[in-house]
Amino acid sequence: MSELQARNPRTGQIDYRFEADDAAAVNAAVGKARAAQVGWAQSGIAHRAEVLHKWAAQLQRDMEKIATALSIDTGRARISHEEVDAIGHMIHGYAEHAEKVFAPVSRASGAPDIDFEQQYVPYPVVGVISPWNFPMVLSFFDALPALMAGCTVVVKPSEVTPRFVEPLVESIRAVPELDGVIQVVRGDGATGQALIAAVDLIVFTGSIPTGLKVAQAAAQRLIPCFLELGGKDPAIVLAGADLDRAATSILRSAVYNTGQVCYAIERVYVAEKVHAEFVRLLAEKAAALALNYPDMGRGEIGPFIFERQAGIVAGQLRDAEAKGARIVTGGTVEEHDGGLYMRATVVDGATHDMELMTEETFGPVVPVMAFDTVDEAVRLANDTRYGLTAAVFGPTPEEATRVAARVNAGAVSINDTDLPRAITLDGEKMAFGMSGIGGSRYGASTMMRYVRKKALIRNHGEVKPLAVLSEEDA
Ligand code: NAD
Repeated sequence: MSELQARNPRTGQIDYRFEADDAAAVNAAVGKARAAQVGWAQSGIAHRAEVLHKWAAQLQRDMEKIATALSIDTGRARISHEEVDAIGHMIHGYAEHAEKVFAPVSRASGAPDIDFEQQYVPYPVVGVISPWNFPMVLSFFDALPALMAGCTVVVKPSEVTPRFVEPLVESIRAVPELDGVIQVVRGDGATGQALIAAVDLIVFTGSIPTGLKVAQAAAQRLIPCFLELGGKDPAIVLAGADLDRAATSILRSAVYNTGQVCYAIERVYVAEKVHAEFVRLLAEKAAALALNYPDMGRGEIGPFIFERQAGIVAGQLRDAEAKGARIVTGGTVEEHDGGLYMRATVVDGATHDMELMTEETFGPVVPVMAFDTVDEAVRLANDTRYGLTAAVFGPTPEEATRVAARVNAGAVSINDTDLPRAITLDGEKMAFGMSGIGGSRYGASTMMRYVRKKALIRNHGEVKPLAVLSEEDA
């Protein structure tokens, strides 16, 4: 066991220490999960839904304890409550859809006398490795469909935001039926690697460099691996679009959670003839946003959760300025009582030779670039190794949709941003490029990622005679 420590994003102080789980502790958790899985899978969908609903109710009772710890982990208030609430909503949604998704399939096949049954066999133990930007939601976004499918889960949250784990584990313990079914291990990359070495399927949410390590470790064991990685999501604003609407929506997406969101809009392409007006509107709206400081309950922009991120954002801005971009508003890392903040930042004159337009920023920054033709806008939007989400604003939804259909991303919001958040259980989306691999994480069918499809095939007629061999040889 080794001791890890966590920094408080509002004070800059190291005020929390914990023991990381080593390989032996991870193996013990996975062993317990494996033993519990048999009964959990056999108990049926209705029972699993009932137990998870019980947990959702328990989470509401434990709301203050968990949200308070999450707030210290992340330096923000309102989103912490939303994170806890989201778990209940997701449980409700998956429970509602599970019977239909896993409905028995039994029918005749194309071949005479042969019929088959489809069986869904859950992967026994699913490992989940999650990042620090939404510590609670991203620990369970993938765990919940796996649980509903009949797997048990072992979750490893980020070591950057560890405080919520204690009250979380207490809330799981308060539901005895979850014993062994949901477990949480704590630690950094070493604990993550130990988890991959022990589970039957791994889901990872985090950065591309770590995702590559996770994929390699999973490949060594030939276990399925679903990766949900970073983004550099574009927005295209066509001539004739409602500029005020576009500026509001793009800014909201870019600065929500201080821009520490994988699907935040991180680059904007705007038609040359409306470019100046759009930048003016964007800058005006950005300048009106306040920091969540000194009062965490007021303002719109919180501190950087991860100290290193502030340096990455500042470095990208320096690189952009050196290459000719203009910071219209914001752009400075401000230190207040040890916390690191940046006001909503608008950058004009960005180009693709700047890191700000090619690398994930994860800060409250909106870089803008003008385009002449729609073809150029689409080419620029697709000039990326990422492909998580995108947005297109146009004079009509139809015109925007035609452009959206040409953008390489798993989901494109039309005349708004961040719409995937509204449809977690409808529609499906898969990442393009290096933003991830694996079946859709959205839609009820995401539960299918956690089962193997097995066919039971019956022959009700005669078996083929041995003579068939010589006929085939002839
Ligand atoms: P990260 O890759 O640094 O860490 C993520 C997790 O991986 C942590 O729990 C960490 O302890 C663990 N880890 C580190 N090294 C490991 C290793 N060698 N083997 C196994 N596990 C290891 O990511 P982060 O900085 O915590 O999160 C930010 C990143 O996550 C951004 O790139 C962001 O875009 C991405 N993200 C993606 C989504 C999505 O849904 N696609 C959602 C949120 C965040």
